[in-house]
Amino acid sequence: MKDTQYTEDFTSDYFKEVLTIFFDALPDPIFVINQNGLILSVLGGSSHKVNCFPNVRESQYLHDTLPLEVADKCLHTINKAIEDESLICIDYEVEKKYLSPEFCSNQFYQGRIFPLKQYKSDLRAVLWIAINTTEKVLFTKKLNELAINDELTGINNRRYFNEVMKRTFDMFQRDKVSFCILMLDIDFFKKVNDSYGHDGGDALLKSLACTLKESLRDIDFLARYGGEEFIALLPNTEKSDAFIVAQRVRLAVEKSIVQHGTQKIRVTMSIGGGEISPGDKDYESVIKRADVALYEAKNSGRNKVVIA
Ligand code: GH3
Ligand code: MG
Ligand code: MG
Repeated sequence: MKDTQYTEDFTSDYFKEVLTIFFDALPDPIFVINQNGLILSVLGGSSHKVNCFPNVRESQYLHDTLPLEVADKCLHTINKAIEDESLICIDYEVEKKYLSPEFCSNQFYQGRIFPLKQYKSDLRAVLWIAINTTEKVLFTKKLNELAINDELTGINNRRYFNEVMKRTFDMFQRDKVSFCILMLDIDFFKKVNDSYGHDGGDALLKSLACTLKESLRDIDFLARYGGEEFIALLPNTEKSDAFIVAQRVRLAVEKSIVQHGTQKIRVTMSIGGGEISPGDKDYESVIKRADVALYEAKNSGRNKVVIA
C-alpha cells in the first residue's frame, strides 16, 4: 500500500467510523479532558450497557458535573500529568449517587491519566481511562478482614492480637507504662455443646463475645484466642484495676442468658490475669502468667478471677 493511500485512509470517514467502533468496544470508559476541565469526548465503556458516569458528558466542565472537591482533585491531577508529561495512576471511590442506576453500591476505580501530545487547540488535554476495580478492592478488603478477624464472633483473632501485643510490649520497653492481660475461658463449655448441640455452642460464643466487649472498657482490646477462650489486653492498667475489670466481666457473663431457639443457655467464666513486669523478655511471658492464673481459677472452683 502506498503512503499516500495510507494517509487518505487515515483521515477518511471510513477510518473515523472504524475508530469509533474500536473505542466503543473498549470495556472501560475513556474521557478526553482539557487542562481547563472541559470534557472533550467520552469514549468506550462497553462493559456497561449505559454510561456509568451519566453526569460526565461531552462539552461540560468537570466543575459543572462533579462535587467541587472531586472536580478540584481531578483538575489538579490532569494538570500534574500534563506538567510532568507522564502517566499518573490514582485510585478512587465513586459514590452510588453519581453512578448510573445499574450500580447498587459505590464503585472503586483506578484512573490512568495520560497527557496527549497535542489536541487541536493550544490547550493541552489528557486521556483519562477509568478502570473499574470494585471486585478486586472488595476482595482485598474481605481478605484483610479475614486476616485479622475471627469468622464466628467477628471480634479480632489470635494472629492480630499477637501483633497488637508485640507493639504494646515494644511501647512498654520504651515508656514503662504497665499493662495487663486477661485470659477468659468458658466453664464446662463441652457440656453446652453436649446439651444444646454445636449450633447452641456457636450461638453462645457469638453472644458472649458481645457481652465481653460491652463489659470491657473502650481502651481494652479483646480477641478470640482459641475455641472457647478469649483474651483481653488492658492497656495502661495495673493489677488492682485489672481485677476490678475482670470481676465486672465475670459477673456480666454470669448474669447473661443466651436464647437459642426455645432454650435458654447460661454459663460462667473463669478469668486469669497477669501484669507485665520489667523483667519480662517478651510479651509471651505475661500471657503465660495469665494462663497459670487461669489454671488456678479453674482449680479453685471456676467462675473465679485470679490475677497473678
Ligand atoms: P473447662 O471448664 O475446664 O474449661 O471445661 P470446658 O468443657 O470448657 O473445656 P474443654 O477444653 O474440655 O472443652 C472445650 C470445648 O470447646 C471442646 C470443643 O469441642 C469446644 N469448641 C471449641 N471450639 C468451638 C467452636 O468454635 N464452636 C463450638 N460449638 N464448640 C467449640
Ligand atoms: Mg473451658
Ligand atoms: Mg479452654
